[in-house]
Amino acid sequence: MSNESSIFDQLNRPLRDLRISVTDKCNFRCSYCMPADIFGPDFPFLSRKELLSFEEIERLTSIFVHTLGVKKIRITGGEPLMRKDLPLLIKKLSSIDGVQDIAMTTNGSLLAKHAKSLKEAGLQRVTVSLDSLNDEIFGKINGRGVSVQTVLDGIEAAAAVDMKVKINMVVKRGMNEQEIIPMASFFKEKGHIIRFIEFMDVGNSNDWKLNDVYSKKQIIADIDKVMPLEAIEPNYPGEVATRYRYVGTNEEIGVISSVTDAFCGSCNRARLSAEGKLYTCLFSSIGHDIRDPIRSGLDDNQLADYLSAIWFKRNDRYSEERGKITRKTKRVEMSRIGG
Ligand code: SAM
Ligand code: SF4
Ligand code: SF4
Repeated sequence: MSNESSIFDQLNRPLRDLRISVTDKCNFRCSYCMPADIFGPDFPFLSRKELLSFEEIERLTSIFVHTLGVKKIRITGGEPLMRKDLPLLIKKLSSIDGVQDIAMTTNGSLLAKHAKSLKEAGLQRVTVSLDSLNDEIFGKINGRGVSVQTVLDGIEAAAAVDMKVKINMVVKRGMNEQEIIPMASFFKEKGHIIRFIEFMDVGNSNDWKLNDVYSKKQIIADIDKVMPLEAIEPNYPGEVATRYRYVGTNEEIGVISSVTDAFCGSCNRARLSAEGKLYTCLFSSIGHDIRDPIRSGLDDNQLADYLSAIWFKRNDRYSEERGKITRKTKRVEMSRIGG
């Protein structure tokens, strides 16, 4: 079955990219995402029966692909590799006709163990998050003292089974801006694209301040001084990262500038949380419950109508309006919807 059908939101944006969070749990406590003092031992994580099952995720994904026009799937979390038997889900999703791309974002700590089975299940691409090559800095950021080498081993294992690997580095002023150049040089050498991400005001827990944002402009200027860069065209409309190439090479980097250079106009992403809530923006306060409808016996056509109505009503453009917003409302946590 083809997925040429499209549904457009109020700002004429199609739905193309579905991000599926498979767990709200994580073995890291990154300071900008799940600070340890808030996500402590008593934090009420979701129970097993609150999570969508693999069968429910597969059914929903199939409807998203065949009826709403989704083409790309990204598995995320929390830490997706903490969900038991994840390769079984990857296998189910990669077998859906019309899925053009399936990727996963992970902190990499469990990747060395699972890379082979993920690849065999059909995972083509993996994005590994790593914010520093310095053990002291990285251990502090991840809040669990996990070593850089653990993540590098995961990256190596994924590359060894021919998965395409990209690296995500969140840059926060005073946390790791001095790591930009070492990270850029290291991954240029390794041949993996690194994407620098501006620290974002997602959720309610990370004590975000505009002053802590190390901007795209600063990131590019820092790298350009040492390794000259030139801007290059996006790969496709709606690409989140702005691309640059090291002059005279084919090696590239990306910068994701949600704060200083918003890209809401082309945002074609929806996010499904582990407990089955659909979020039409990373900065949403509420998610639309899909779990009850799916468990209450609706057929595929009814579910498709329900999902289409949600996308049709969408008019989110938080990052473009950020400067004008005066009252802070409670927002979904990044660890619930996975970035
Ligand atoms: N646990 C996995 C990981 O870390 O890759 C997947 C989920 S994590 C929420 C997805 C991405 O969001 C990661 O690359 C992480 O660095 C990024 N992220 C989390 N909080 C962020 C924030 N406040 N600002 C910018 N990026 C953030
Ligand atoms: Fe966990 Fe990823 Fe959030 Fe870090 S960014 S706490 S690894 S979910
Ligand atoms: Fe998309 Fe919301 Fe981010 Fe804008 S702020 S790019 S609408 S997720």
